[in-house]
Amino acid sequence: MSPANDQFVELTENQRLVQKSIRNICDDFDREYWREQSQKGEYPHEFVDTLGEQGWLGILLPEEYGGAGMSTNETVVMMEEIAAGGGGFAAAQAVHGGIYNSVALVNHGSEDLKEELVPELASGETSLQAFCLTEPNAGSDSTAIETRAEKDGDEYVINGQKIWTSRLDVSDYAIVVARTTPKEEVDKKTKGISMFLVDVDEAVSAGTLDYDQIHKSASEFVHSYSVYFEDMRVPEEHLLGDEGDGFYQVLDGLNEERLVIAAECLGLGRLAVDRGVQYANEREVFGRQIGKNQAIQHPLAEAFAKVQAAKQMTYNAAAQGAEATDLGALANMSKYLASEAAFEAADAAVQTHGGFGVATEYDVERYFREARLTRLVPITQQLVLNYISEQVLGLPRSY
Ligand SMILES: Cc1cc2nc3c(=O)[nH]c(=O)nc-3n(C[C@H](O)[C@H](O)[C@H](O)COP(=O)(O)OP(=O)(O)OC[C@H]3O[C@@H](n4cnc5c(N)ncnc54)[C@H](O)[C@@H]3O)c2cc1C
Repeated sequence: MSPANDQFVELTENQRLVQKSIRNICDDFDREYWREQSQKGEYPHEFVDTLGEQGWLGILLPEEYGGAGMSTNETVVMMEEIAAGGGGFAAAQAVHGGIYNSVALVNHGSEDLKEELVPELASGETSLQAFCLTEPNAGSDSTAIETRAEKDGDEYVINGQKIWTSRLDVSDYAIVVARTTPKEEVDKKTKGISMFLVDVDEAVSAGTLDYDQIHKSASEFVHSYSVYFEDMRVPEEHLLGDEGDGFYQVLDGLNEERLVIAAECLGLGRLAVDRGVQYANEREVFGRQIGKNQAIQHPLAEAFAKVQAAKQMTYNAAAQGAEATDLGALANMSKYLASEAAFEAADAAVQTHGGFGVATEYDVERYFREARLTRLVPITQQLVLNYISEQVLGLPRSY
């Protein structure tokens, strides 16, 4: 890993500790490990279990429930290092859901649920990796969800379909977002949506939850699914927060989570630049290192500068956290810039490798596919630009 990566942002003592610990873990999972997981399309259980055993899945969970009680400021470091450590954005995505869904449970779950589940989530014994929001007719516009949850005695009965639910296959529990009041009956489309905790095995055994894998060309070891609910019964105690307020609960903490997504893009960008530089120094063509050509140097240098610029913004915003004057603007701009920088870095790394840029054994084609994905998820770059246009620049709403 290029030492140049570490010299532009001054880390706090806690951040340094996180960086060192995560680098130690990542050192045990080399390039071959991640390549093999990708080729087999197998979830990196050993890696995630190690993070769980060492308490990292509970980085954001309160200490009273067995968590590490840290904040976004440390989580950006953890996730950047996981991505930069060789696994890329996909490795970060393998654990991201569990970290953030557990926070939703802490913020909105009943005391009984928290006492029962949060310590096990912090240690990785139990997993809450899946978040079911997106539907065939509701992606960027999540208020358009049609999945219904209707009260029946002391239970809710859920019917509907989700798509792109990631990590359902490795989740003991999932968070499902559904309409408790139809859109036509609320004065604002953001109202009438609720959040539920679902026991996945129980629902599958009851035959009320079914799912099919969506085959995709990036993040192969993190599987995504189409999910079908048919009269799925959920006890009322598993309603998270207040009925009808689910959309606002989804937004709660979203800016800080977006900074962590930005950090995952930064890690991928660093990884791609490092790999490009390494190959540029090794490969000789016309009797000289290809790295001597400015046409090889400049794209890598430009990508490096952009990754570092995005990092300045991301880390600065993470340090301010909720105290920032406009965290929404900072988080959206950070995600946009980090994702673009990762894409440029991966593209430069592929070009540097010549024909081997598309050979799986050099890994950069995988980084490229992942970097492309970061422009789509968890929110598309256009929707981020919409936010900046309207909320920051004061331009009229375009949709
Ligand atoms: C690998 C992967 C994993 C995912 N994991 C999860 C998950 O675990 N849980 C979950 O709930 N969801 C998940 N998603 C879904 C993801 O959040 C959505 O794909 C994303 O929000 C975009 O929605 P969409 O795909 O329906 O695109 P659409 O909303 O159909 O948009 C299509 C295109 O139109 C553009 N567009 C639409 N409206 C506008 C506008 N007003 N202005 C400008 N451009 C516009 C969009 O930017 C996009 O380019 C995942 C997706 C992928 C690909």
